[in-house]
Amino acid sequence: MLYQIAEKVIELEKSGKKIIKFNVGDPDQPTPLEIINHATKAMKEGKTKYGSAAGEKGLREAIAKQYETKLEKVVITPGSKWAIYAIMKVFLKKGDNIILPSPHWTAYQEIARDLGVEVKLLETSLENNWEIDLNKLESLIDEKTKMIIVNNPNNPTSKVIAENTMQEIFEIAEKKGIKILSDECYADISFKKVKSILDFSQEHFFVNSFSKTFAMTGWRLGFAIVPEKIAKEIIRLNQITFTCVPPFIQEAGIKALSLKEEISKEMKKIYKARANLACKILAKTKLKLYKPDAPFYLFPKCFTDSEKLAFDLLDEGIAITPGSAFGNYKDHFRISLTLAESQIREGLQKLREFLER
Ligand code: PMP
Repeated sequence: MLYQIAEKVIELEKSGKKIIKFNVGDPDQPTPLEIINHATKAMKEGKTKYGSAAGEKGLREAIAKQYETKLEKVVITPGSKWAIYAIMKVFLKKGDNIILPSPHWTAYQEIARDLGVEVKLLETSLENNWEIDLNKLESLIDEKTKMIIVNNPNNPTSKVIAENTMQEIFEIAEKKGIKILSDECYADISFKKVKSILDFSQEHFFVNSFSKTFAMTGWRLGFAIVPEKIAKEIIRLNQITFTCVPPFIQEAGIKALSLKEEISKEMKKIYKARANLACKILAKTKLKLYKPDAPFYLFPKCFTDSEKLAFDLLDEGIAITPGSAFGNYKDHFRISLTLAESQIREGLQKLREFLER
């Protein structure tokens, strides 16, 4: 379905049709110039050779310092997606199961499927403010359950898990001897404060990314903070697969981290304004919406088949992602706010008019 929509967008654009793309989860901002300049300098200085499979010491140290952890627990990866894959690959085995709150970013489920791991979806609902039902969570756990995945803030709902809920998830996991994999790749630009898994314990699994905070999706730079034993296994996996993340890219990462406060502040400001604008326009429609706690995505309920809606909207010059791409949510769709305010205004006005027809 996603593929079909993406193909249709390309086809329509080729034929000269203008499409407002609410379906792309890639920041529209360029990577900040200081980061680019730093990478270029590193290349000129010769940081263009093989490096460490764990990641360069300088970047690992900078991360260890920011997250108050040990260098040995930090592994640099080509994007957080690899960190997620690697953790699941080294920690889970065929026949295990994991619990995945839903709606969810599809990669977790695909990776599990690839590893022969069963996924138990823990569905949440807009009506219940996308809250995780802790009783339901506990009832899904059996002797083969090895992991709970939390994506905080969540793609596609932009929900931040409340601190007390996170505390309870942590307590359930500890009680049952299950690990939490916390994907916090939108946390640094979240509107609402995120209680990190690292605030509870360093014995669980944490992943983060440079992609969203610093508009660096194409650089492929992410990292994991995990127990040392798991870190060693991931490093081995890195060694036998991609060898290392290019050292000059990691230099750019060091620069990015040093600028995190100002860049994330600016990103938040931009996305907050976009989210406010989008919510204001959508409030005038029959769509039902959760006010986002974090940037990038809105996941309104449309009370109709969003796959059909997605195709109908393409004819109007608007691309959205149907909710079925994120689980059993056919009556929702995802809008990415990775567009300028003028485009958001134009696109959502058109959407509004379409829904009123
Ligand atoms: N986690 C979530 C929730 C995401 O939405 C994405 C990107 N869409 C990623 C991880 C992967 O990001 P990257 O591999 O670029 O770090």
